[in-house]
Amino acid sequence: MSKIARRKFIQLSAVAAAGCFVAPARQSQAGELPRLSPDDAMAAAMKYTEDASTVDPATRNNPAEVQDCANCALVQGNDGDAWRPCQIFPGKVVAAAGWCSVWAPKA
Ligand code: SF4
Repeated sequence: MSKIARRKFIQLSAVAAAGCFVAPARQSQAGELPRLSPDDAMAAAMKYTEDASTVDPATRNNPAEVQDCANCALVQGNDGDAWRPCQIFPGKVVAAAGWCSVWAPKA
């Protein structure tokens, strides 16, 4: 293999390898995932709501004053997004303004 052919082969291999990493990441973008419904059986069991302000603080397990999905340790995705993935509900996005009984403070 000539030096030029070898260099071209290495360049194409690098592009192909990069493509393997880009495609899965694109599939998991929050904008492409369905929103979690509060009526979902698992969501209902966790008392999930899309509006944390509707939750009586006296009924929460954790005493932290400000609790919503945006400041939960289990939320994923980007700060500022209205809907974000959550480790408890894989394959769905939750409302950043929402809440569920699993809420935990960020470290
Ligand atoms: Fe929201 Fe946290 Fe419950 Fe997920 S675990 S739904 S981010 S409060």
